[in-house]
Amino acid sequence: MTRRERLSKSRLFANDADTNPYCVKWNEGWLQIRVPVPFSLKWVNSYLISEDEGYTLIDPGLKTDEAIHVWEAVLHQNRIKWTDISRVVLTHQHPDHYGLAGYVQEKSGAPVYMTSAAHAYAVRLWGEESGFSQQLQLLYEEHGMPLQDREAIADNLDTFVSMVTPQPQVQFIEAGGTLSLGGLNWQLIDAPGHANGQLCFYQSERKWMICGDQVLPHITPNVSVVPGEDGDPLEAFLQSLRELQSFDVLFAFPGHRDPFAEFEGRIDELLQHHERRLAQMAALLSEEPRTAYGLCGVLFGTRLNGNAHQLRFAMSETIAHLVHLERKGIAVSSCKAGIRYYSILDHAGNHGTAEA
Ligand SMILES: [Zn+2]
Ligand SMILES: [Zn+2]
Repeated sequence: MTRRERLSKSRLFANDADTNPYCVKWNEGWLQIRVPVPFSLKWVNSYLISEDEGYTLIDPGLKTDEAIHVWEAVLHQNRIKWTDISRVVLTHQHPDHYGLAGYVQEKSGAPVYMTSAAHAYAVRLWGEESGFSQQLQLLYEEHGMPLQDREAIADNLDTFVSMVTPQPQVQFIEAGGTLSLGGLNWQLIDAPGHANGQLCFYQSERKWMICGDQVLPHITPNVSVVPGEDGDPLEAFLQSLRELQSFDVLFAFPGHRDPFAEFEGRIDELLQHHERRLAQMAALLSEEPRTAYGLCGVLFGTRLNGNAHQLRFAMSETIAHLVHLERKGIAVSSCKAGIRYYSILDHAGNHGTAEA
């Protein structure tokens, strides 16, 4: 199908964002609610899908007063009551998607569905016994982050607790299964790398994809090393993107920004972005051994100044790329006084060390 055909198909959709910036009505009665988030992503997309009885709500958003206010207004405007929400489905466990799930469950009595892996991560991150913040501190310390930045990140993480409370009682759905949404059958696809256990939902007759944060227009989804999760999240992410590219998608419903038609092309751009970033990092490491923190400063620079939230994303993303380079045999790392330095293997198999 040509780009023009895809775009004309996408015009099947009606859009009344001009009358309410927070709510866009798509055909078949789908509502896209742009739920505000208090950081640079601006909003997370919730989708309200009309069912025979009630509505399925996908990804309710982060629990803030502003988000609840928007929800109240949108529901009122569309003559929907909280109790009309018959089911909450989560693409993944990140707080900007998961945070309001418990609140909506309290208001509606609706069951909340997510994968068991996503739920395990949410419990580890936000459960009462969570040691996640301390584990993150240790990881960042090893990768060269000074104490002041680590403390700012710990403080920033603490602010999220109220934005994911209360936490929902959940039921599990898993990749490989199917789910009925809006009278149509959707395939559940494992989409790791951005968030372990994330699901995308594919409808083969409409050729629609609900893609969570795995493929976003205009924004590069964050890929992070998460303490306690082994492996190579960037490799998982890249593999998942290639797998998603094999689906014939006319229209994609992402977790941020607006629904879009160029799914396959957007995946190409994301793959190319990571190739460029890996090459750029390898070039920097060939100059001298560096820590993840040192590289992060070179790559992201002044954008991080005083922004603990952004610094956490940038740092974890940098570590993910370094882990990937090392797994691929392009970089090697060694520790000096507890700090990990990365360098590049030269053609003779030698490498600069932390002492070099
Ligand atoms: Zn996410
Ligand atoms: Zn998100």
